[in-house]
Amino acid sequence: MSTETETTKNDFIRTRVAEELASGKHEYLVTRFPPEPNGYLHIGHAKSICLNFGLAEENPGARCHLRFDDTNPTAEDVEYVDSIKEDVRWLGFDWGEHLYYASDYYERLYQFAIELIEKGSAYVCDLNATEMREYRGTLTSPGKNSPHRDRSVEENLDLFARMRAGEFPEGARTLRAKIDMASPTIVLRDPVLYRIQNAHHHRTGDAWCIYPMYDFAHPLSDALENITHSLCTLEFADNRKFYDWVLEQVDAPSTPRQIEFARLNLTYTVMSKRILRRLVEDGHVGGWDDPRMPTIAGMRRRGYTPAAIRSFCRDIGVARSDNLVALAQLEASLRADLNKHSVRVMAVMRPLKLVIENFPDGESDELDAVNNPEDESAGTRKVPFSKVLYIERDDFMEDPPRKFFRLAPGREVRLRYAYYVTCNEVIKDDAGEIIELRCTYDPATRGGDSPDGRKVKATLHWVSAEHAVDAEVRLYDTLFTKEDPNDTAEGEDYTANLNPASLEVVGDCKVEPGLADVAPGHRYQFERLGYFCVDPDTSSGRPVFNRTVTLKDAWARAQKNQAQARKEA
Ligand code: ATP
Ligand code: MG
Repeated sequence: MSTETETTKNDFIRTRVAEELASGKHEYLVTRFPPEPNGYLHIGHAKSICLNFGLAEENPGARCHLRFDDTNPTAEDVEYVDSIKEDVRWLGFDWGEHLYYASDYYERLYQFAIELIEKGSAYVCDLNATEMREYRGTLTSPGKNSPHRDRSVEENLDLFARMRAGEFPEGARTLRAKIDMASPTIVLRDPVLYRIQNAHHHRTGDAWCIYPMYDFAHPLSDALENITHSLCTLEFADNRKFYDWVLEQVDAPSTPRQIEFARLNLTYTVMSKRILRRLVEDGHVGGWDDPRMPTIAGMRRRGYTPAAIRSFCRDIGVARSDNLVALAQLEASLRADLNKHSVRVMAVMRPLKLVIENFPDGESDELDAVNNPEDESAGTRKVPFSKVLYIERDDFMEDPPRKFFRLAPGREVRLRYAYYVTCNEVIKDDAGEIIELRCTYDPATRGGDSPDGRKVKATLHWVSAEHAVDAEVRLYDTLFTKEDPNDTAEGEDYTANLNPASLEVVGDCKVEPGLADVAPGHRYQFERLGYFCVDPDTSSGRPVFNRTVTLKDAWARAQKNQAQARKEA
């Protein structure tokens, strides 16, 4: 497992950047992370953030810009701008002075469009969307020239100015690049550069009624910021031809290079913002920050740490071919980090009363518990012990099968940090439900060790009933049941593979008294139950915990089995 200090392995992008810096092609490196503020960031974005900001950290004199690609006013909102900034910072990255918005360049982009028109490389087209689609052709057949393709420069300049002035209704006209309607690359078949949209923009208000297309704004924004390497995901490989075309046509201040890398796909996870928005809007989750969401906000609320996400991104590396990464690998990175830093506490999720008959009434004992065996500096704390305790219902069986080593009638087990106890009697209610265990304890085993070397096969967690705090615990499973939920069958929509059991609320938990007034965001390991994080729904005296991840490491086990199988093969 990697640690925070481990250095990033070289990948094809880092190798190329190093070569270009060494050869003097660039004096220093400038990258950017260019989100569209139309949703919250997700774990896939984290990969891109770690790559772009990571490169800037690794190379002396380099920097990474945060640029909002806000060219689509109807989908965008300041809520998203704010959340994106918060999430990038939370991940541990800093854009310094270099915060930009494509909308800041609207006037300059407009001037670039005029430059294209003047060169005869762009024209105003009156085809509507349906006609444009018909004219575009297909992968196997060439497109047809628009009837407006040969308008004079003067006419184009005049019409484009009038588009900007708001003289035409939405959709009536577009500005298009004049490239090649027969190009095998569909992106080059006279792509639209500007469309008319009578929409209010979250930053420019009503100043504009024409908006540049992403494919046009993007290379020029990069060039205006002197970006050296414009890193994007593989689906933009074709767009690179248009990216380069734009930069060749105009007198751009610099010539950034686009390099594509594989996007992150995770098992049981959907990352399309469109679908994430549907999940929120259709009420399948509580919001963008629902702890089941693969959003940074959701993961933060669930208890993920920035270090775990960064170490995961480092481990998966950057490659050129798409693949599907196991969610278990992300969880393994998370566990590795939480294991180092989490304070251990005791909490009982499904309480069963255990009464110690030979413990004096009304008294209590204070026992020493270790806060974090992985970190001595975390120290110890006192945990109260008394006559009536709670243990986990699952830790007792009246009629245990052979491999069940926990508590059973007549059996002795250790209570963590406390004493050995033996179960003498099982009390049931009228319905036959077990409501209480009557036990005795051995005072000589205080601290959890037997002076006569007597062995027990199980150590159980517990809390003192009188001292315990009531808590709510929320347990999570994946939002989707299918390993690759993006691979939907015909006619299925995104809800087809939703997991109906992705959230389980356990209302009557009992936790150590030290957890009465915990602050949202605090993380703990509940011994034997998993890692938990205090939810913002917490109120004083009634904490709410999200289970971040269980303790069981399926990923490490699978890796070990695989290694074993390889050895045997
Ligand atoms: P959508 O999901 O709506 O297609 P998007 O995820 O591409 O949108 P952007 O805001 O445009 O959203 O993304 C910002 C940057 O993050 C882009 O450079 C994009 O390539 C990168 N990115 C997005 N998803 C992933 C992913 N799964 N893996 C790696 N990088 C990603
Ligand atoms: Mg995008």
